[in-house]
Amino acid sequence: MTSPLHKADIVIVGAGPAGLCLARNLAETGLSIVLVEKQSEAQLADPDYDGRETALTHSSRRILIELGMWDDLAPDEIFPIKDARVLNGSSDYSLHFDHREAGVDNLGFLVANANIRRVAYKAVAPFETITIRSGRTVVDAGTAADHGWVELDDGSRIEAGLLIAADSRFSPTREMLGLAIDKIDFDRVCIVSKMALERPHDATAYECFRNDETLAILPLHDDHVSAVLTVKTQNSRAMLDADPARFAAEISDQFGHRFGAMKLVSDRFSYPLFATFAKSFHKHRFAVVGDAAVGMNPGTAHGFNLGLLGTDILAQQIKQARASGLDFASRTVLAKYTDAHRRNCLPLYHGTNFLIQLYTNQSAPAKVARHMMLRAANKIVPVRKLIMSTLTDRRA
Ligand SMILES: Cc1cc2nc3c(=O)[nH]c(=O)nc-3n(C[C@H](O)[C@H](O)[C@H](O)COP(=O)(O)OP(=O)(O)OC[C@H]3O[C@@H](n4cnc5c(N)ncnc54)[C@H](O)[C@@H]3O)c2cc1C
Repeated sequence: MTSPLHKADIVIVGAGPAGLCLARNLAETGLSIVLVEKQSEAQLADPDYDGRETALTHSSRRILIELGMWDDLAPDEIFPIKDARVLNGSSDYSLHFDHREAGVDNLGFLVANANIRRVAYKAVAPFETITIRSGRTVVDAGTAADHGWVELDDGSRIEAGLLIAADSRFSPTREMLGLAIDKIDFDRVCIVSKMALERPHDATAYECFRNDETLAILPLHDDHVSAVLTVKTQNSRAMLDADPARFAAEISDQFGHRFGAMKLVSDRFSYPLFATFAKSFHKHRFAVVGDAAVGMNPGTAHGFNLGLLGTDILAQQIKQARASGLDFASRTVLAKYTDAHRRNCLPLYHGTNFLIQLYTNQSAPAKVARHMMLRAANKIVPVRKLIMSTLTDRRA
């Protein structure tokens, strides 16, 4: 028996935030797009909360507005970050990013990953040119001279002029296509949870580096925060299984009791920490986007921001090729995407990995180096302004 064959212009594997945003960005080109996603349609329409609160830059907000997604977020689903502070160990000294110095009302915005996925799915669903094959897993993939193809777990096959992987940093499709990656295993686990505070957070985000652990406190509604704790893998089970009151006391203690008593008000979610960087973002008739291209360590909150920017770059290249009557999946188009996106990602990828390794290293030279770096960055105004400009979409 022959398997059912579906033909399209573009097939995207993965309807996470990156795959959905790319599909929406291309929706008005008239190209036929198939999105393949292993989650069910009900999960796509109303995703479960997974603990991830995404710090979005002004640039990401602008793209989400253009894609018609931002306005579908309720006001109480967007939490402004006014200021940010970076602390080294138990020292009270902090590197301070002040929204007034950046000349904006907020440095950025926190939105739950689940809510981004919900509004992205809602924005894509009405388009007749976009077919979503939900509840289906890609089990094989490849390319031929004039198309890419995927095989699904129901035996069906989809062929398209361009195959795109948006299926996470572990991207099975990228692996099936033999696209090599650089990978760092930090031997750490990120544990995220929601907590209620006794004292106000003043819409300030904190990143605290302690011993070989890090703790980020991200401001949400009504003096609730998202606590993002990074621990050595061998210690993670104990923190995940700890009695809620003991877990909350530990977080409060790690943070020097700055907010008084803290209370755990959600489940704890865990994410093993890997960083990945694809050696190229394309091959013949194939491209990778989102985490499948660059899987950032969440320590500096760049992952989705970069992924969204990458989908925008690829969509613009495809649109320009179409407008000029050229092949939208040609080597030239895909190479332009790779070049532009690598230029955006490489400094942030290496910078983030360097900082995370420096700030979780217990050697004496590393401790001295980070103490000096924090003070130097605070004193050198252009350094602070440059970091803030990447958050706020302004050039210092
Ligand atoms: C703790 C934590 C905090 C973070 N905080 C921030 C932050 O503050 N700011 C920020 O910008 N980023 C942040 N990130 C990163 C952000 O969550 C990711 O960059 C983003 O979710 C990646 O989106 P994606 O669509 O590329 O991949 P994913 O969200 O991983 O989606 C991939 C999709 O592909 C589907 N899939 C996989 N394999 C298959 C298959 N074989 N067949 C069919 N479907 C498949 C999956 O079901 C999934 O829906 C954080 C990440 C973590 C872990």
